[in-house]
Amino acid sequence: MSGRSETVVTTLVIHINRKTKIVATLGPASSSGDIIRELIESGVDMFRLNMSHGTHDVHEKNAHTVREIQKGLGANVSIVVDLQGPKIRIGTFADKSVTLLPGAKFRLDLDASPGNVTRVYLPHPEIIGSLEQGSEILLDDGKLKLKVVDNDGNSVETIVMDGGSLSNRKGVSVPGVILPISAITDKDQIDAGILNEIDADWLAVSFVQTADDIVLARNIVGPNIGILAKIEKPSAVSNIDSIVKAADAIIVARGDLGVEMPFESIPRVQKMLVDTARTHNKPCIVATQMLESMVSCHRPTRAEVSDVAHAVLEGADAVMLSAETASGKYPAEAVRTMAKVVTQTECDQAGFRSTRDTSGIDPVANAVSMITEMNSIRAIVVFTESGRSANVIAAARPNTNIIALTTSQRTARKLCMSWGITSIVIDEIFWFSQMLQIVQKTLTQNLDIKDGEKVIIVAGLPFRERGHMNFIHIYEVDKALADRDNGS
Ligand code: PEP
Repeated sequence: MSGRSETVVTTLVIHINRKTKIVATLGPASSSGDIIRELIESGVDMFRLNMSHGTHDVHEKNAHTVREIQKGLGANVSIVVDLQGPKIRIGTFADKSVTLLPGAKFRLDLDASPGNVTRVYLPHPEIIGSLEQGSEILLDDGKLKLKVVDNDGNSVETIVMDGGSLSNRKGVSVPGVILPISAITDKDQIDAGILNEIDADWLAVSFVQTADDIVLARNIVGPNIGILAKIEKPSAVSNIDSIVKAADAIIVARGDLGVEMPFESIPRVQKMLVDTARTHNKPCIVATQMLESMVSCHRPTRAEVSDVAHAVLEGADAVMLSAETASGKYPAEAVRTMAKVVTQTECDQAGFRSTRDTSGIDPVANAVSMITEMNSIRAIVVFTESGRSANVIAAARPNTNIIALTTSQRTARKLCMSWGITSIVIDEIFWFSQMLQIVQKTLTQNLDIKDGEKVIIVAGLPFRERGHMNFIHIYEVDKALADRDNGS
């Protein structure tokens, strides 16, 4: 055996009893070491840095604080950089705002001069070019609706369907049309530049329309950063299979999705997106307004509690807090509330897992899950380098802890958002006996495992050959044996 028989376990496991993970957005309400520490201790598994707000300096400082605190705690915490994406906006008005009345005519054009009640600048010739007679245009998060009646190539004439007040630089959505614009803007390219500087794990791409947007993002950041596709346009919903295949995970971004689609269709779409991601062994985050009232109140509404529980019951990998932790009055309370609801819901659904739909689930993962249900199995230990094997096992939603052992710190952190997975960084192993030794040591440290308890070990053999999961071993814990193999 090589001199490397003393394998090293470096990670402290802090949230092992909860399967569904928690993502929290950092912002002015949470940009301090004390609050970030409290958020991690309250249950945050992953932090989102939202590039639509804040400066690079603040994001970098927050990311360094997260890394310092997690190192101190010996815990894994993931960081995602969320790009603003091509948010389309109108220009300005001479009087700052106008009131559009239903039935009135209103023009969007390429004239940069300030607008009035009859027209406004839309600085996107490519969007004007893609609008046809009958296309619907939503303004200001869907509060106003226009219908296109004519397009001369330089301007579109519309009729106001839903009127109201419209002020400078409000957002524009064109739900039914695949827009000829890239999901990655010049600003996004600059923002993506901080990924390496801050040692981030994930890049979230906004307003994705097709799998090509994911390919573009991957070309910019390389193979090691995970790509999260934010599903917030009807075109992304239509192209979901190819987008999920190209990306590493998805976010159900219900804020913009609820503007671009009728809000009553969001529950159906959310369920479909969670199911699709799981079928492809990719994690899925459900996001936005989950505990919105906690921005200003220390207790959630009962409807919000049900919304979080609903996402857990649907099988989401993670649930996300936005304004609640970024700008709200009670950031840590919001995380503790979310953790409490998730934990209770998982506890209450104990008997529900065995009836889960396993169609499309990997056969090895399904077999592992069935063994855990029929036997008293303390944990599933999966050796994984890219994280794929661990996600494949998690997609079967087995009823015991999944411990992912990896030599890659980045993989360990990327898995923080995956359902039921606790990741631990280990040294490289070369021999079967080392495998048992590291399993024994890891479980003793983190699960207080007893002699005679059983775990399932899942791996791809031979070691160091990636891309397959072909080994299932039921291991009965024998501390004396492990100590002997360890030479002690
Ligand atoms: C959303 O629209 O739901 C979302 C998560 O995106 P953002 O918060 O960046 O608008």
